[in-house]
Amino acid sequence: MENTTIENSASENSNSKIIDGKSIAARLVEDISQQAQSFRQKSAIQPGLAVCIVGDNPASRVYVRAKEKRAQQAGFHSLVLQKEAISQEELLAQIDALNDDPKIHGILVQLPLPQGLEERTVIERIAPHKDVDGFHTENSGKLMCGIEGAFVPCTPLGCLHLIRCQLHTMRDSLEGKNALVVGRSNIVGKPMAALLLAENATVTIAHSKTRNLPELCQSAELLIAAVGRANFIKGEWVKQGAIVIDVGINRAENGALLGDVEFDKAQKRAAAITPVPGGVGPMTIAMLLWNTLVAAHKAAGFKKPEIKII
Ligand code: NDP
Repeated sequence: MENTTIENSASENSNSKIIDGKSIAARLVEDISQQAQSFRQKSAIQPGLAVCIVGDNPASRVYVRAKEKRAQQAGFHSLVLQKEAISQEELLAQIDALNDDPKIHGILVQLPLPQGLEERTVIERIAPHKDVDGFHTENSGKLMCGIEGAFVPCTPLGCLHLIRCQLHTMRDSLEGKNALVVGRSNIVGKPMAALLLAENATVTIAHSKTRNLPELCQSAELLIAAVGRANFIKGEWVKQGAIVIDVGINRAENGALLGDVEFDKAQKRAAAITPVPGGVGPMTIAMLLWNTLVAAHKAAGFKKPEIKII
């Protein structure tokens, strides 16, 4: 789905089993800010991202602040619309105004929304060409049908980038690989599976009703865990030489962040694995900026930029 160019051969991580999402994301954001600058010189347009946040969820506020900071660092116009409380009609009117605002190329509504606001109705109100979270059914439908030009949700897009970077260092490809995606949410599992299928992997999706998860894991050359349960995927389930992408973010009782995969044991069997934190997490915001850059190019009638494997 994504245009890709390869900048240089093996990265610094070629001997490491740890996929360093933090540094891969930092390099991507640096590239995005350079591309945004040259786009601005050619078009006199600054890519613009608007984030709507409602309520007082502390985690949501932290995420939104991080998105705002990164967008500003990348040289984007960044707008945060924050309300303690808002009616559904007011929120829809706010989105209508952003849809009509030529300075805004990407709109994101921070989820979850407080009770009384219907998430699906709100997401569907975002103009599909500004839906940089890729949650609108027009974008998810295009992704499922393999139609070019869909905005893809940022977390699976970030996972795909990490996988491509890793396979590049291994001089390998996704074609024909047995990939297992554990989790089938609309924001991670399903789009992840669709992206891997588009890359010609052989994809299995597991969920809470799956009966033989350990066996499925043992035959997965690529394992993506997006469950939301700490250390749920046992190290001994991991196939020797597999690539493991851990999407899970779970808070331990002592406050530490844990992934869905038993990291220490899995690391001994995997060819490469993402840590938590510092793996998938940093890629999500980088991909939000990427989607916004793409949206700005499309709005200006420019050719879509290419994502670099760097
Ligand atoms: P959801 O709760 O929406 O989905 C969890 C999925 O896990 C469901 O499909 C569920 O199956 C499946 N599941 C639950 N129990 C089992 C089980 N016993 N065996 C197999 N599958 C099971 O979560 P999300 O997809 O939104 O997020 C998943 C994780 O990723 C969370 O920890 C979240 O915090 C993290 N996350 C991280 C992001 C990042 O930027 N790094 C961004 C987004 C999410 P079923 O459908 O049958 O219920």
